[in-house]
Amino acid sequence: MEPADLTLSAGPNDVFPQVRAAMGGPILYHYDPVFKERFRDAEEKVGRIFRTTGHEIILMQGEAILGLEAAARSLCTRGTPVLNLVSGVFGKGFGYWLTAIGAELHEIEVAYDDAIDADAVAAYLDAHPRIRVLSVVHSETPSGTLNPIDRLGPICRSRGVVSIVDVVSSYGGIELRPEEWQLDLLVAGPQKCLGGPPGMSLMAVSPQAWAAIEANPDAPRGSYLSMLDYRDLWHGQGRFPFTPSVPDLHGVLAAADLLLAEGLEAVQARHERVARACWAGVRAMGLRLWPRSEGISAASVTSIAVPDGLTDTQVRDHARSRYGVQLSAGQGAGNIIRIGHMGNTARPMWMVAGLTAVGRTMIDLGAPVDLGAGIEAAMASLAEPAGVPVGATA
Ligand SMILES: *Cc1c(COP(=O)(O)O)cnc(C)c1O
Repeated sequence: MEPADLTLSAGPNDVFPQVRAAMGGPILYHYDPVFKERFRDAEEKVGRIFRTTGHEIILMQGEAILGLEAAARSLCTRGTPVLNLVSGVFGKGFGYWLTAIGAELHEIEVAYDDAIDADAVAAYLDAHPRIRVLSVVHSETPSGTLNPIDRLGPICRSRGVVSIVDVVSSYGGIELRPEEWQLDLLVAGPQKCLGGPPGMSLMAVSPQAWAAIEANPDAPRGSYLSMLDYRDLWHGQGRFPFTPSVPDLHGVLAAADLLLAEGLEAVQARHERVARACWAGVRAMGLRLWPRSEGISAASVTSIAVPDGLTDTQVRDHARSRYGVQLSAGQGAGNIIRIGHMGNTARPMWMVAGLTAVGRTMIDLGAPVDLGAGIEAAMASLAEPAGVPVGATA
């Protein structure tokens, strides 16, 4: 089988050519001064993209799932009362770790096409003042939805609750302000809106989070999951707890350089513009967007409900084999097909190609879809001058 012509999955995604080139760079000895300098440079730039100076940045060597598990185990132990917010597959999955750890698990769960209600969280925390940790996913990638972490941060901070936030698929592409929003432990991945390779966890840790980790006698030590080892050895003594992945570091640094050169706000505007045009196209085709409203939709991915009688697998396989476009399914969130527009793939005409493949695939499989109207609506949205809210004319 040949690789797809166009990879518009929900990550990992096609990376920037400069990132690919950087990853082919020399495998440096990890204590070579050049590598150490590049590693520190990457930490600094990752922090700038996080828009924080008050959090400590750590780059753990494993795909973001590693960082998320490290966060869970660092902050929670047997009996820790935790409120886990579930609005999709990743939120649900986080609860499985908390259960495995033996934490006292509290959950607020909403339908997977909906978002968490911040007021309900505040009320729950007030009714359960023993809760010390809260976990939430910012952008629920399988659903294409966004949770109101800007409101959840202050709700937690004012109650002394430490927040763990999965920002894997929002980091870089969707507004994120950990300091202003008073968020504690954030975990991102390079393979989504940053347009980098999978394989690293980009983490931002607040002083409040470190204090809570230090107070946890079971926080990992002498382990690949140890945030404390990373901080004490690398930041404290200039020694790595283990050899970092050299090509991944090259790739993350190149992706961060590209993002900062384009400008954080410009990158976020590009994601927003492509997303809005994609949503307009989906609606005009006669398909249904999965999120309940545009107000809770994430700009990194468009989740589309697969019409009755068809399955996500049929749609995805047909688009891949007939039209050469690799899409994502819903990872169990529902009968969903997803067009990723993140990082390097948040490009107007790539999205239009993805939309075309989705629409024509539905027609081929017998669903009533108006492909022409969909493409016309997407293009009309893209034709709007920058700054004009798209959809205002629809
Ligand atoms: C991509 C992603 C992760 C990382 O998980 P994988 O399934 O290993 O890619 C974690 N959380 C969210 C919200 C993600 O989108």
